[in-house]
Amino acid sequence: MKPKVEEILDLIHHLHKEDQNLIQRAYDFAKKAHAGQLRKSGEPYFNHVFATAKNLAELGMKAKTIAAGLLHDVIEDTSITEEDIKKEFGEEILSLINGVTKLGTVRYKGIERKVENLRRFFVSMAEDLRVLTIKLADRLHNIETLEHIRPDKQKRIALETLEIYAPLADRLSMGRLKGRLEDAAFRYAYPKEYEDVKKLLLERKDAKERYLIEVRDRLKEKILEAKIKNTKIDYRQKHLYSLWKKLQKYNMDIGKIYDIIAMRVMVDTVSDCYHVLGIIHGEWTPVPNRIKDYIAMPKANGYQSLHTTIFTGTGGIVEIQIRTHEMHEQAENGIAAHFIYKAKDAEKNPDLKELEWLNKLHDLNKDHENEKPEDFLEKIRMNFFRDRVFIFTPKGDIIDLPEDSSVIDFAYAIHTDIGNHAQGAKINGKNTSLGTILKTHDIVEIQVNKNTNPSSKWLDHAKTSLARREINAYLKQHSLLSKFLSFGKN
Ligand code: MN
Repeated sequence: MKPKVEEILDLIHHLHKEDQNLIQRAYDFAKKAHAGQLRKSGEPYFNHVFATAKNLAELGMKAKTIAAGLLHDVIEDTSITEEDIKKEFGEEILSLINGVTKLGTVRYKGIERKVENLRRFFVSMAEDLRVLTIKLADRLHNIETLEHIRPDKQKRIALETLEIYAPLADRLSMGRLKGRLEDAAFRYAYPKEYEDVKKLLLERKDAKERYLIEVRDRLKEKILEAKIKNTKIDYRQKHLYSLWKKLQKYNMDIGKIYDIIAMRVMVDTVSDCYHVLGIIHGEWTPVPNRIKDYIAMPKANGYQSLHTTIFTGTGGIVEIQIRTHEMHEQAENGIAAHFIYKAKDAEKNPDLKELEWLNKLHDLNKDHENEKPEDFLEKIRMNFFRDRVFIFTPKGDIIDLPEDSSVIDFAYAIHTDIGNHAQGAKINGKNTSLGTILKTHDIVEIQVNKNTNPSSKWLDHAKTSLARREINAYLKQHSLLSKFLSFGKN
């Protein structure tokens, strides 16, 4: 099938004439520039940039980003020059394309490269989120068309996707993109496990689906009776890769996983969410300790929803997720969706609670127009990761901690034993004390001594609840022990 520009234009809400023109021009330009080039599959190369642009439109990105998606490979892979792009499309689109090129082809070659890549990604994220989004859309098409690539390359690209791209999509709360990246990569990165999980899922799916439909039909009636308007109920199957990760936590026992297929109820307002939860708990018995209020307490990436799990009364167990349409859109499409909603009807949703950094990011984006680019970059850098710091272990793993965390927090984040016996640390090769506050990109090596143990003074420097809990546990145990020992002596 030939890619048509309408496929992209149809995905854009409130399409303006000038946006349509821009996308049409980029489409024609890229098509001409890539004419005659083929991909490994034998398809025209243009299909790749078209698919990238289409992914961006699906994510809710605006016309300039979509145009840059269409043009993202012309400078690298054709005779088109930077000057040509600047003349034809202006500075801003040129800088987006250059940003994508600068990110380059990331290679997963062991841990050192991973650190280097992540560094580059964090920098680019701080510079312009649109660049990163184009890169993710580009990667999505590449990973979904991996079958024509050499097997050794397949594996490498798949691992890169799982280690670098998918976590970034997650951090930007682009849930659907993350799921698609992971599932496409899973089969190449871990073929045997992929087949196992797929089989497990197939065995369970039908029975699960039966219970779900049963609950759905009864719930629909009850919602109708309660006169809650504009509701939508559907269900989603858990992505294979996230199912596999969860299975590993539960000893591969699929019987312990309730959200293989989960029902989703979408409503207009937050109070409707709680109303529906009440209806559900009035109709079915909830499974204890499975009720989660991510509306009042959103997840770190901004995810909001009410979760509950119920006994169907007919032998089944079903997980139900309740959220507003807006929360749903945000969970699926992340930051991009957030901008669209905000611009459209900000006052209509006064009860939307959201992550402060999202708000900040939005405000920054808003007055971006009349501002020097450098100032904007600096603000993004300051605000986007304002409340988290990213610390590297000497092996290159990243530990993400709240701002103002110290060496002690880092040590406990690695392992309790390392925390309990931390004596000092090297930060970027220099000796420092345990109370030193860490900064993003620090490389920290903990020095361990078997004879060192936590003291109550450590609590002054522990910011994370994990570290505080472990220190307190140690102190408590230790004081009991010393009482016991001194009791013995008397
Ligand atoms: Mn590309």
